[in-house]
Amino acid sequence: DTASLTGKDLAAALNVETTARAQALTEQIGRAPRLALIVANDDPASAWYVNSLKKSAANRGIDCDTVDLGADASADTLRTELSVRSADPATDAIMLQTPLPAGVSLDDVSPAIAATKDVDGVSPLSLGLLTAGSAGFAPATAEAVVELLKHHGITLEGRHVAVVGRSNVVGKPLAQLLLAENATVTVCHSRTTDLPAVTAAADIVVAAAGRIGLVTGANLGPGAVVIDVGTNESADGSIVGDVDPESVRGTAAGLSPVPGGVGPVTTALLMRHVVIAAEQAGRTADTAPA
Ligand code: NAD
Repeated sequence: DTASLTGKDLAAALNVETTARAQALTEQIGRAPRLALIVANDDPASAWYVNSLKKSAANRGIDCDTVDLGADASADTLRTELSVRSADPATDAIMLQTPLPAGVSLDDVSPAIAATKDVDGVSPLSLGLLTAGSAGFAPATAEAVVELLKHHGITLEGRHVAVVGRSNVVGKPLAQLLLAENATVTVCHSRTTDLPAVTAAADIVVAAAGRIGLVTGANLGPGAVVIDVGTNESADGSIVGDVDPESVRGTAAGLSPVPGGVGPVTTALLMRHVVIAAEQAGRTADTAPA
């Protein structure tokens, strides 16, 4: 039987801890940890996600300050907002929603986010710190994959993990996190010549390509563990992953569901990062010269 590697229990446990830490910090510094959520699009999926982040923040005792700069905001406007928030002692954490306005790339603007506040690890500095194995925030989705595997007792050390996708937000940082766990990592992408051969040889397959039905049971070795990161809108409007669950059931040892797998853990880790950023800012303020 294929085990369902759900993220709900792990997310709930993380949320209990985050809520307690947020409360303790609020008592200590006299205000709640504060997240600035910067939006510059009119994308419905993004609006849905922003709403769910606001709700999670409220439930954890985190202030969420949403700043909508409009879908036609310029790179300069975005950089200015991110710089102001980076310098603002009342802002502990910054998240920049995607998509960005047409013609603005994440690389254009993300360097303006202070690494200490970059709770979704999107800036080149954050990605570099992660690659170097230094302190910093990893992108929450990538971290969620590793935490989900550990939560379900799946060993990473020495095992072969195939990561399908090489984006700066999921595939690349995930490869770094897996290396830090002593896994052997193969990163696949749209120009990989024989994807099924690579995934079939892996102990663990992580699908993060944004392509419905990319990974099927026929592409897996016996007893493989599969983590589905994909979130795609299917023809009937429901959200489906990159993995074909029917064909994988029976072949795989475990499969994370979409929804209910990586997603809830991602949100829980983001909120944990906000509280950690606020705790660290509090410590810095305590030790700053008068
Ligand atoms: P992206 O479009 O930036 O990158 C996709 C990657 O997949 C690219 O590196 C590309 O080379 C690779 N790819 C595309 N088609 C392929 C193919 N046929 N074979 C092999 N590789 C292929 O996407 P992203 O931002 O990295 O997100 C990936 C998926 O994860 C999307 O479905 C996204 O919605 C989802 N996502 C989920 C969460 C979550 O919390 N659950 C968070 C972020 C992203």
